[in-house]
Amino acid sequence: MSSVSPSPAFPTPEEDLAARLAVIETCRRMNALGINQGTSGNVSLRHGEGFLITPSGIDYDAMVPEQVVPVHLDGSYSGDWLPSSEWRMHFDIYASRPEAGAVVHTHSPHATALSCLRIEIPPFHYMIAVAGGKTLRTAAYATFGTAELSRAMLAALQDRTACLLANHGMICFAPRLDKALWLAGEIEALCRQYAIARKMGEPVILSDAEMNEVIARFATYGRQPEELDGAGVAAVEAPRRRT
Ligand code: 13P
Ligand code: ZN
Repeated sequence: MSSVSPSPAFPTPEEDLAARLAVIETCRRMNALGINQGTSGNVSLRHGEGFLITPSGIDYDAMVPEQVVPVHLDGSYSGDWLPSSEWRMHFDIYASRPEAGAVVHTHSPHATALSCLRIEIPPFHYMIAVAGGKTLRTAAYATFGTAELSRAMLAALQDRTACLLANHGMICFAPRLDKALWLAGEIEALCRQYAIARKMGEPVILSDAEMNEVIARFATYGRQPEELDGAGVAAVEAPRRRT
């Protein structure tokens, strides 16, 4: 269900219900995976002429489809439930990044711990490229739920699909809900690995040239042969396929 893609401009009632259920399922999976805490975090999916977002402060296990909130292009919302206090970060991502179909914000333990150091995580591991570049930035600190936080986030997301939020957590986006949840898990894993490496010593940082190669391969990482036509460098130097 959470692989639901952004809905068409005028979703049917069935598509609307499926999208709401997918948002709820993603929240529950986010907590079950251990990458979020309680009612922290929020999830949204581009939908109709705006997006659907989790309501503010509601327990994910008790959440029902009617509580998921439609937010419109003018920033207004519909229904009886207040949208997430972070609706503006989601709104600004959809407005400025057309490739975004879903957004996940979490307070995952290691991403949140590193966000308190307010550093730019260097390319200590090639997987840092999952977020679109050679580093993972931390957005400048601002109070949760403010336009100032959203502005800081947009700056940190330049040429990236994920960033840390100082003394707060992380946020990421992807074309689909399942991909956004996956990316949130990858960012948490990277932050955990970086924290462990730093405890053990001084990690060797990959060079610009090494990362350029990784980024070129990432353009096709995870794509199967039929999706690769004309897509450039294959991520995997595949062995010859027996016919
Ligand atoms: P909401 O419950 O309003 O979505 O807030 C959670 C959160 O993470 C605020 O930063
Ligand atoms: Zn938060």
